[in-house]
Amino acid sequence: MRIPIEPGYFTVPEKADEAPRLLGSKCRKCAEVFFPRRMTCAKCLHRGTDDVLLGPRGTLYTWTYCHIPMFGKLDAKVAGYGVGQVDLPEGPRVQGVLSGKPGDFKIGMPLELDLEVLRKNDKGDEVVIYRFRPVEKRA
Ligand SMILES: [Zn+2]
Repeated sequence: MRIPIEPGYFTVPEKADEAPRLLGSKCRKCAEVFFPRRMTCAKCLHRGTDDVLLGPRGTLYTWTYCHIPMFGKLDAKVAGYGVGQVDLPEGPRVQGVLSGKPGDFKIGMPLELDLEVLRKNDKGDEVVIYRFRPVEKRA
């Protein structure tokens, strides 16, 4: 089984080839959309939001590359990882890990959510995080 590293932030589809979605909130008064979820609107301060699914696609706003292994990742051979800020069509700009090498990323490119296995837990479940990958490539 695949389980999220922290519940309440993204879906984990049963099918491995299905893209996960981010769990967001939409204000019932002004319709502003947020990630992560919240009860009170940060724009108009209205109390009361509806749960919405975000993504799975977005546009790369900006990115950087960390030349150290990812925190909590079992495979320390991985040289580093990208981090990007991604604009979702629903409104929020979210930060996430990018799948690929520094040469793979370009501001404005389309990205799609997928899941990355960090490690296995004591029960043998795969602990996953969400990440964004360039749409052209399958990771
Ligand atoms: Zn609002």
